[in-house]
Amino acid sequence: MKNALRVALVGAAGRMGQTIIAVANSESVEIISKLDQGDQIASAGADVLIDFSQPDVGNAVCEAGLKANTPLVIGTTGHSLEQRKAIESAAKKLPIVFASNFSVGVNALFWLTEQAARVLGDGFDLEIVEMHHRLKKDAPSGTARTLAEILQRERKTTQLRYGREGIVGERDPSEIGVHAIRGGDVVGEHTVIFAGSGERLELTHRAASRETFARGALRAAHWVKGERPGLYDMRDVLGLK
Ligand code: NAD
Repeated sequence: MKNALRVALVGAAGRMGQTIIAVANSESVEIISKLDQGDQIASAGADVLIDFSQPDVGNAVCEAGLKANTPLVIGTTGHSLEQRKAIESAAKKLPIVFASNFSVGVNALFWLTEQAARVLGDGFDLEIVEMHHRLKKDAPSGTARTLAEILQRERKTTQLRYGREGIVGERDPSEIGVHAIRGGDVVGEHTVIFAGSGERLELTHRAASRETFARGALRAAHWVKGERPGLYDMRDVLGLK
């Protein structure tokens, strides 16, 4: 393919990896290296290194990017604080798009959540509910974590409540509930609930196909190639910031 973006892909045999390979051609991307478990992660010759694998692969992805000076797109979710720090540190030398969700709709949901929290104020109780397929390994989803971070920032609270069981007492107005449902083949659903007295607002996004994430990740790969070092997310790519 002439003038295609050359991409090395980590997690190539996975659900997201396979979807990215399937749509690459139509997004002017050539996957020059398909890496999965057992392969040495390297990005020589690639314009961008994309990672959709698992969190403990993050360090090797950053090292490969730093070694060959290759921009990164990281879609993997569930990183520990320490694993995130390694990504933040690599972003001092490399442009990195690190996004919990590459769909345009979910990034609109992030924006709407921020606006709704501002408009509705403290009188509304905040709960996040997400549902994913039975094979998903991390919980809550990276997207639910991003939604929680947005609400925490707007409400100036750090208190997250993951599920409830037993005599939990009355709801603390400053807490943000986060609930993960697993089952079937659900690609990804997120609802943010703003529950007030006498009224309730719900913002819901439903992904019906992984293609939306794959196309978003490839759009991010085209964008990140010419960027300066730094940590970016999909809102930077979409110009929503
Ligand atoms: P999956 O389990 O189907 O695929 C993961 C792949 O990574 C597997 O093929 C596995 O063999 C491979 N892998 C494991 N260890 C490896 C290693 N050391 N080196 C190279 N490859 C390795 O999972 P999935 O559904 O494709 O999701 C992958 C990740 O992407 C998850 O963290 C998921 O939460 C995340 N995800 C993010 C978005 C987004 O928009 N950001 C969307 C969907 C999924």
